[in-house]
Amino acid sequence: MEVTNWGSLIKTRPSKVKEVFKVQDIIDVVKDPVQFPSPVRALGSRHSPTKCIDADSGTVLDMRHLSYINEPDETEMTLTVGGGTIYYDIVHFLEARGFMLRVNTEIGMLTAGAAVMGQTKDSAFPGEYGQVSSEVVAVKLVTAQGEILEVSEKNDPEFMKFVRCSYGMLGVAFEVTFRIVPLRLMRVYHKHFTVPEFIEQLADIRAARAALMYYMMPMRGLVVVEYRTYAPDESEEDGIQREPGVVHNKHLLPLGDSSILAVRNFIWAKLNPVTSRLLLSVPRLLSVPGFWLANNLLFSGFNFTASHRHLPAAQVITYPEDPPASTVFTFSIMSFTADKFKEAMTAYYKFVLDYHDRTGWNVSMMDVGYRLFHDDKSYLSYTDGGESWTIDPVTNPNSGWYPFLKEFNKLGASFGGKPLLNQTPLLTADHFHAAFGPQIRQFNVHRKRMDPDNRFLSTFFKDLYQCS
Ligand SMILES: Cc1cc2nc3c(=O)[nH]c(=O)nc-3n(C[C@H](O)[C@H](O)[C@H](O)COP(=O)(O)OP(=O)(O)OC[C@H]3O[C@@H](n4cnc5c(N)ncnc54)[C@H](O)[C@@H]3O)c2cc1C
Repeated sequence: MEVTNWGSLIKTRPSKVKEVFKVQDIIDVVKDPVQFPSPVRALGSRHSPTKCIDADSGTVLDMRHLSYINEPDETEMTLTVGGGTIYYDIVHFLEARGFMLRVNTEIGMLTAGAAVMGQTKDSAFPGEYGQVSSEVVAVKLVTAQGEILEVSEKNDPEFMKFVRCSYGMLGVAFEVTFRIVPLRLMRVYHKHFTVPEFIEQLADIRAARAALMYYMMPMRGLVVVEYRTYAPDESEEDGIQREPGVVHNKHLLPLGDSSILAVRNFIWAKLNPVTSRLLLSVPRLLSVPGFWLANNLLFSGFNFTASHRHLPAAQVITYPEDPPASTVFTFSIMSFTADKFKEAMTAYYKFVLDYHDRTGWNVSMMDVGYRLFHDDKSYLSYTDGGESWTIDPVTNPNSGWYPFLKEFNKLGASFGGKPLLNQTPLLTADHFHAAFGPQIRQFNVHRKRMDPDNRFLSTFFKDLYQCS
């Protein structure tokens, strides 16, 4: 039996796959190691590009049917959902009731269980974190003994740090409670830079009171910075209610403003993968000028995707379960503290050009990156060292990708780059321990106490955490 990730780039071969409809299904599986061999691994939408979905010879719990959303708790300002509920459904449910999550990460297929158990990324607003797990205030788990355990920020903030990003090694997350805030409109605009301009102006860019994402085109030496800010002035002028519980009327928005985000999402998630795949398939004589032209068009295209006001959920994208090969893309990520980022980014741009000269291979799509702020709410927070900036190479997958990644990982590690276990493929235990050593040792103590028989431990995590 084979289970694959989105786009079928990563495979695992479990002995059993159990669809989960209710909590008792999880308890029954966990308590019966004969029928359901170890490791027992809960999976969400399988959008991770790493072997964190590994359940070889074990049991996969398919969580996607455990999907429900309770009405928001307007006193506590929280929302509780089933572990298999996808992010896209959550943000639209909240929008219709006048609320939102603070992090509107693009991946609408992210399940609530994976959101608390795994690492995520998004550009952070000043005063916020940008990591979804830090927005989770409580989680209910089925433990390795088949018992129900509730952990919350209120009752045990220290242990909550180890539950966040524990990748199912402390238990299966079947119910998740998020912090919510009143709905606000956002605006988005872009600025274009050559690399020398970007480097020179980085201090000013950093000072912006905005959430910053950036699109990088190393083969052309270009960067586009996407600025997102809340848009309080206009919404107040328009009298659009932002009180908790008041249904927001999206038709009050001027024509086109939320749909401009759909154009942005289309460029990013469809047009870019399809055009770059097409260009990869034509002879080099045509593909080189083709990439040059496509990059210039994309670079200019951002001029037309500014939104004066849009609803936050507009940036959240769903992807088809079985995507056409032409739209499949893959990526990696590494995070650098703000003081190392300038050097790391300059080295990355040089590396991409050198690698292309040496091998003829280059990342075929726009790379991206995100600015996040200091966050120590999880033992695997990749921004616990302070404000951090990521580098995320993005490409159509082909045989050149993994050899490139091996060198990218070495380069990133040399600048203290921190990885995400579900989003940084080919990670080595040495690199992982260099990035998170003391936290891993503390986690291993909790893991051994919670799961002495390794019911939830897959080979992938055993090798990385170097635990037994
Ligand atoms: C096209 C695409 C776009 C993406 N864009 C973004 C983005 O914008 N931002 C971002 O942060 N990431 C992005 N990602 C990466 C993705 O968000 C993460 O890999 C995320 O973990 C996927 O969620 P999932 O539900 O598919 O989890 P899965 O891949 O199914 O699982 C991830 C890990 O969590 C564990 N897990 C899942 N559910 C549970 C549970 N209920 N209990 C215990 N453990 C569990 C799994 O065992 C596994 O180790 C993208 C991926 C793709 C393919």
